[in-house]
Amino acid sequence: MNIKRVGVIGGGQLAWMMGEAAKDLDLELVIQTPYQRDPAVSRATDVILAPIDNSSATAKLATLCDVITFENEFINLQELQFLAAKGVCFRPSLDSLAPLLDKYDQRSYLQSIGLSVPQFTALSSKADLEGVSQFPVVLKARRHGYDGQGTFIIQNHQELSATWNKFNCPPMLLEEFVPFTKELAVMVARNVSGEIVVYPVVETYQKNQVCHWAIAPGAVASEVTEKVKAIAHTLVAKLQVVGIFGIELFLTKNNQVLVNEIAPRTHNSGHYTLNGCNISQFEMQLRAVADLPLISPSLKSAGAVMVNLLGYENSQQDYPAKLHTISSLPNTYVHWYGKTESRPGRKLGHVTRLLNETELSQGKAIADKIEAIWYSE
Ligand code: ADP
Repeated sequence: MNIKRVGVIGGGQLAWMMGEAAKDLDLELVIQTPYQRDPAVSRATDVILAPIDNSSATAKLATLCDVITFENEFINLQELQFLAAKGVCFRPSLDSLAPLLDKYDQRSYLQSIGLSVPQFTALSSKADLEGVSQFPVVLKARRHGYDGQGTFIIQNHQELSATWNKFNCPPMLLEEFVPFTKELAVMVARNVSGEIVVYPVVETYQKNQVCHWAIAPGAVASEVTEKVKAIAHTLVAKLQVVGIFGIELFLTKNNQVLVNEIAPRTHNSGHYTLNGCNISQFEMQLRAVADLPLISPSLKSAGAVMVNLLGYENSQQDYPAKLHTISSLPNTYVHWYGKTESRPGRKLGHVTRLLNETELSQGKAIADKIEAIWYSE
């Protein structure tokens, strides 16, 4: 199939960064996104202004492109199945997304293919709630959670029922609180011919369930890196994925690796690849879905630190001066997504600082320094 136009469901910062890679590959992006002000609109050839889960809009999108991929998984899978049955090409396929969209289904699927996950159960009734005997536990919305919205660390029964009641008692996922030593993540891509490439394993840091920074490569034993890469291979081979997936993991004190979550698209933990690798996660996704050969990913320098620039004010008054200071640091690249609204905690941009051999052990200190500039009064 000769692919020239790639349809993307979602028009946020991920599609915006994909837009730059599309230009390099001589591909055009057509996006489906709700608002004209969304970041990727400026980099798209055509735009369908509609919510992500509007399948009639996706039918229209399909007439404007050769293949449809995703930057957002908050889709209505059942409705899209009708389009797939009529021959619309989704990459990754809807079948490979189906077990992943609901967090409870995802945990069950991962377990069924032999991957280790935190102990989990469904919370559907008052009896399930009363049966919980160990705290802390983690309560999660089964769908539409992101950046910790929908994830709650719960200390006791009272908090558990209050939180569940607040949402009007829907079916939710309940799981053990994992006392991890580190959080890790990895990006993995697979193309139509079954070629698989895995990016370096990174360490990530989440505060209040929101990613603050990622360091590549993560400082972990080679045995851990091998385990993570094996998980990545197993997952995309079993699901016959065409595209790129991000995998978030917990590392425990005895070097056990548990899968926390699968993002069936590019992911924040892979933003460092833009400046830090010979091929970015965005180009890799486009290569996979446009049937182009994959390129084996590697770091361009000894390492890289990615720091998210999260909103800390409702206006945007202070940001330009801070961005200027950060961009004048050595080997530092700033990406500012051009969002028109700032809110505390909103992802507005990110910074990648490349590390040389002697700086490899200073990744966290460098992330702290960038955050100190960004969040200073
Ligand atoms: P989201 O889909 O909103 O990103 P996640 O399930 O990935 O939500 O959780 C966000 C963060 O919350 C994780 O990166 C981790 O720091 C913490 N977290 C989630 N689940 C657990 C768990 N079972 N044990 C300990 N911490 C957890």
